[in-house]
Amino acid sequence: MHDSERPEVFFSPYTRNRAFLRELRALFSRVAAAVSPGDSVAVKVHMGEYGGSAYLRPPVVRRVCDLIKEKGGRPFVTDTTTLYPGRRFTAGQYLATATFNGFTEESVGSPIVIAGGEQGYDGEWVDIPDRVSGCTLDRTKVATEILNADSMVVLSHVKGHPMSGFGGAIKNVAMGCVTKESKADQHRLNRGVIDFSKCTGCGDCVEACSYGAMSLPDDRMVRDEEKCMSCNHCFFLCTEGVFSLPPEARERFSVYLAHAAAGVLRLFDSRVTFISFVQDVTPLCDCVAPSGLPVVPDIGILASADPVAIDKASLDLIARARPLGKYADAATGDILGNINKTDSLIQVRTARELGMGNTEYRLSEQE
Ligand code: SF4
Ligand code: SF4
Repeated sequence: MHDSERPEVFFSPYTRNRAFLRELRALFSRVAAAVSPGDSVAVKVHMGEYGGSAYLRPPVVRRVCDLIKEKGGRPFVTDTTTLYPGRRFTAGQYLATATFNGFTEESVGSPIVIAGGEQGYDGEWVDIPDRVSGCTLDRTKVATEILNADSMVVLSHVKGHPMSGFGGAIKNVAMGCVTKESKADQHRLNRGVIDFSKCTGCGDCVEACSYGAMSLPDDRMVRDEEKCMSCNHCFFLCTEGVFSLPPEARERFSVYLAHAAAGVLRLFDSRVTFISFVQDVTPLCDCVAPSGLPVVPDIGILASADPVAIDKASLDLIARARPLGKYADAATGDILGNINKTDSLIQVRTARELGMGNTEYRLSEQE
């Protein structure tokens, strides 16, 4: 690919020790074309799990909302409810957690709207036109408020993820912009495999399942496969080792992620921009609290119109960094993938094959 054809990824490294407010202004100006005056702009951000600490800080989101307003846009801050039970399972619970974490209309200067309704099922199915790598996902249900936005600014905290290795822009869109049904679709292939011989019949999973999929008819757990939404809450809760991941679950999950993101992004055409923060690079994602100590020093902020390029650039920068703490002796490279026992680049390569962007890019450091 000729150099001029490569998408540009704008980069503000933290080593320059510049004020992030100024740097965000400069970066946003490079990618602001996605937002037009009068646009209703979805600012997609994970506002943190209850008890988490590595999620993006509210002032970062405030700054981006203010910059959107300067362009004449009408921003609202948004995310969707979780598939698993907890403190973000309904919109009401999510808003309470967001407030606890510092995200309020006052702090971000814009409305906070949990997309997909109170229970997280409101949205519309959209087709995923192409499929690669044996993926069977042919549609995704986009949450209503995301669907109704004119344009979107995707703010991503770059960190590890127990299933996909890493989470950046692609994952933020794939899992964060859709309803519970589509989250379940993406997780279906990693639904825990059951070893009934290990079940003690304690009943903890029956009580914990929010979908009524578990029962204990003869002192042994039974899962209703139709009702199960593949949230894997029982998997993580059970202390008896009853559940295990099916073969290649992580790899297939990453393939599905990329397809779901493709379904969402095709709605916006080129009216999406991506800003990723490679900082607090914890081994686990913002849904996990605690998500672990950072694996590399804070690196910087990236901005691009290309979700594939920005994720690839994020991973390349992490690969070049010196691991910290107990990871100091770990081989460099895909450190997040190594920690999470998968290849972080699967989602990126799949997204490229789906035509979502390029893995070859130009990194343009801010002057
Ligand atoms: S939590 Fe584990 S041991 Fe207890 S009933 Fe469920 S599967 Fe069996
Ligand atoms: S059975 Fe387990 S994986 Fe399925 S919905 Fe219930 S808690 Fe989630």
